[in-house]
Order: sequence, then C-alpha cells, then structure tokens
Amino acid sequence: MRIVLLGPPGSGKGTQAALLKDRLGVPHISTGDLLRAAVRDGTPLGIKAKAAMDAGELVSDALMLDLIEERMGAPDIQAGYILDGYPRNLAQAHALDEVLGRLDLPVQKALALNVDEDQIVGRLAKRAEQEGRSDDTEEVVRNRLAVYREQTAPVTGHYAERGLLAEVDGIGSIDEINQRLTAALH
Ligand code: ADP
Repeated sequence: MRIVLLGPPGSGKGTQAALLKDRLGVPHISTGDLLRAAVRDGTPLGIKAKAAMDAGELVSDALMLDLIEERMGAPDIQAGYILDGYPRNLAQAHALDEVLGRLDLPVQKALALNVDEDQIVGRLAKRAEQEGRSDDTEEVVRNRLAVYREQTAPVTGHYAERGLLAEVDGIGSIDEINQRLTAALH
C-alpha cells in the first residue's frame, strides 16, 4: 500500500504512521525525522536545513526533492510506503507525482488527520516539555501552524481532485484514530 499522511504539526501523524507501518509492513518515511538526523550528523543537507527548521519555515523545495528522490528510489519502497511530512506545499505535491510516476509507484491513498489548532497548541506545548524539540517553542509553533495553513492545507485539495483523499477525525485515543485510519484504507 502506498500512502501519504497529511495533517497539521502535532496532529499525531508520526504516532499513527508507526502503527500503520507495523500493520502494513511498509516503510515509514518521515521527512522531519530524516532532516533531524541530517542535522544531528552534520551532513551538508543538515547544515543547509537547520535555520529553516529552527524558524518553523519550510526547507527549500530543491533540497527536499533531492532528499525524497533519493529515499523513494531505495529498494524497500517497492513494498509500499507511508510518507509523512511530504508533500508540504503544492509544488512538492507536483514534484512528488512526477518522481513516483517515473518509479511507477504512485500514491494510492492520502489520509488527512483533522485536528483543530487549539488542540494542537496544547499538544505541542506538552511535547516541548517531554522531548525538548528545538522547534516546539511557542513562537516557532505558531509559525509552523501558519505555514501549515497557508502552504500545506491546500495539498489535501490536490489529492481530493484525484479521488485519493480520505479525511479522518484526529481527536480521540490513539487506538480509536488508528481504527478510523485503517477503516479509511478499505
Ligand atoms: P511537524 O510536527 O511540524 O509536522 P516535522 O517533524 O514533520 O514536524 O518537520 C519539522 C520541520 O522539518 C518542519 O517545520 C520543516 O522545517 C522541515 N520539513 C519537514 N518536511 C518538510 C518538507 N516536506 N518541506 C520543507 N520542510 C520540511
């Protein structure tokens, strides 16, 4: 199964992707995790991406496309994928269609987790305490939400137009939401 997971920061994409990955036996590709690893390892990509990430801005489309082309070209992707954190704007959505079309591995379903902003601010404040992620400070969170609203939310329309979108209520227990997502895949 080839899935794109959409939803605002703090909507629980990462948690749900990890559960779906085990159930479906396909790799979970989180661009946020890949970027944080690159920053940690001090790779050229990490060095270039860090300032944008710390500000809650998007890393450039060109850098992201290099990253995604490399990752999606790996052999394990033949089994399918759960893509989390990409595409984050319409240009990325078009670039992804092109890459996956070339690989003959197009998206089969876009799952969007719906959670309103009030809930998210609370969740991210909690995550900041627990995990200490440098981009979870209040000001940066607010910026990430604005970037989401302006640039990423339109991506759901891209998949809706193609008949691939399923929207799922992201409020509830981890288990409940997992069941909703699984139901939406069938
Ligand atoms: P969030 O919880 O905000 O969704 P992520 O872990 O998905 O966090 O991403 C963290 C940061 O990594 C983003 O704020 C952004 O700077 C960068 N990033 C991740 N994916 C992308 C992408 N597809 N395009 C541009 N920047 C990205």
